[in-house]
Amino acid sequence: MNWVRFRTCRSLPEAHLVNTELMRGGVASEVRGESRAPLAGEIPFADARVEVWVVSEQLLLATTLLAEVDAAGEGPPHTCPKCGEENPPAFELCWRCGTDL
Ligand SMILES: [Zn+2]
Repeated sequence: MNWVRFRTCRSLPEAHLVNTELMRGGVASEVRGESRAPLAGEIPFADARVEVWVVSEQLLLATTLLAEVDAAGEGPPHTCPKCGEENPPAFELCWRCGTDL
């Protein structure tokens, strides 16, 4: 299988959101570069580079799937009422503590 870089994300939770949506849609995907982004928030976002890779044959499918996520993901981030963590707009649960947003 040929893997291609699909997207570079600014934070780990964002990358995992993308990864989860892709796998839900049947795309073989994986998160790479996590070690360079130990915890979002501890280092400037500009320095955090987390990549999502997909199998090249599924790149078009991945792009289509993510277009829907991006459309749903517009707007301000949700701030968790329990722990105060910022979550991407498309998140329904806090990535840190699991509270319903
Ligand atoms: Zn939380």
